[in-house]
Amino acid sequence: MKIRNPRTGEADYEIAPLSRNAVVDETRRLRDGQVAWATKTPDERGAVLLQWADAIEADLGAIIPALTDDTGRGGISKIEAAGVPGQIRRWAEMAPQLIVEGQLTDQPTSVPTITTSTRLVPYQLVGVISPWNFPMTLALIDAIPALMAGSAVLVKPSEVTPRFIKPLMETVGEIPELAGVLSIIEGDGATGAAMVDQVDYICFTGSVATGRKVGEGAAQAFIPASLELGGKDPMIVLASADPETAAATALRASIVNTGQACQSIERVYVARDIAEPFLASLTTQAEAVELNYPDINHGHIGPFIFEKQAEIAQNQIDDAVSKGAILLTGGTVENLGGGLYLRPTILTDVPPESDIIREENFGPVIPVMIYDQIEEAIAQANDSIFGLSAAVVGGSVTEAEQIGTRLKAGAVSINDGSLTSMVWEAEKSSFGYSGLGASRMGTSGLMRFFRKQALIRQSGDAARIEAFAEENF
Ligand code: NAD
Repeated sequence: MKIRNPRTGEADYEIAPLSRNAVVDETRRLRDGQVAWATKTPDERGAVLLQWADAIEADLGAIIPALTDDTGRGGISKIEAAGVPGQIRRWAEMAPQLIVEGQLTDQPTSVPTITTSTRLVPYQLVGVISPWNFPMTLALIDAIPALMAGSAVLVKPSEVTPRFIKPLMETVGEIPELAGVLSIIEGDGATGAAMVDQVDYICFTGSVATGRKVGEGAAQAFIPASLELGGKDPMIVLASADPETAAATALRASIVNTGQACQSIERVYVARDIAEPFLASLTTQAEAVELNYPDINHGHIGPFIFEKQAEIAQNQIDDAVSKGAILLTGGTVENLGGGLYLRPTILTDVPPESDIIREENFGPVIPVMIYDQIEEAIAQANDSIFGLSAAVVGGSVTEAEQIGTRLKAGAVSINDGSLTSMVWEAEKSSFGYSGLGASRMGTSGLMRFFRKQALIRQSGDAARIEAFAEENF
């Protein structure tokens, strides 16, 4: 399978997607490895993962260029790859205590002679299927806590961005104990589909359409699924907000990483009182944004990673304009040296039935709607099949938070936007079509990989059948 380079448009890389049989063989190998892995203490598993963190750090010189070729972006690839050792160390440190706290012992019950203990039993094999927008982070975000839980893990990153897999697997190969329980494989949709009935728990990050297929497969296989899907995050800007600061926040939260983030702000509702200075400032700031072209080390936004996504973004812009939206700046995907770029695009007066209001855009596009009553803004922000996250910007945290609690979304950034990209400590659910299943955020990120086994101890006499004789009742 030929892989396109997002900066040049050339197919300069190849993968050989694993067949179903190869997937089955790999799952057998990992299940064998898991038996010894699960008998290690959490601290022992943590020690192995700490070696891996060091190995990744030592090999960043190979990983970062591969990730940069995958995504066409410079600085974010550095942050992404260099952040992984920190995530590994964080789980290696936190997980042992969480596991101790989860295994309650000698708990009294309603029957005086019976006590209980809880054992945490990891799922043997966790499957991870991940998307292209943050290829390395999203391949590992579920895998790391699953390994700490004592599971083996099979990861299939997106076929759009597979170049980082080889250098990353080299780091895994340096640590034989890890190589027995972690495999990151090359593959396409068919490879992903082949995994679902071969694992005991599936973590999927990607689109709603594929998430539904994975969810259906998981239901058939009777396994739990954590589905982390798309979003159409709204930001409400209150009349009390400073227009310039709110515009800066909206711009950054919408266009960082070319808008290719599930938690990107994709709709803005601004109070009429400040709409004019807000839109003026947003447009000025947007026009000052520079493309990372031709120099990857200069500017703010890079090319679309996935060719088709550029087409989706352009079609949504054209659809909105054809329905009466006003284009304030940007609006046309440009082919520069084979890469597909879109300058920050601001639309206003966008009819609510436009695709750009209803469907995920995943580009640097900001539709801005003006409201008179806050109730109107809340109703429109909540009028979506998605409910991943949202944001409210106002004159004070308290005021913004009061509105934030009325939004139907799993995470609400207060006086900022897209904070779930920076903070992973708070457990959150996905509302609506944005996902299903236990959260990867907070302690649930680890604890979901355990089943609870109750040990129920009788220290008195076990009941005899005579106790149930009808004449006793
Ligand atoms: P996608 O659904 O097209 O693909 C995701 C993964 O699924 C890929 O690895 C792909 O090979 C695999 N796949 C395709 N068909 C499959 C099948 N039938 N069975 C199993 N696996 C299959 O998504 P994408 O375009 O790669 O990613 C973008 C999407 O991901 C956006 O919707 C974005 O919002 C979402 N996303 C969500 C989060 C989150 O945490 N909620 C984070 C990042 C991205």
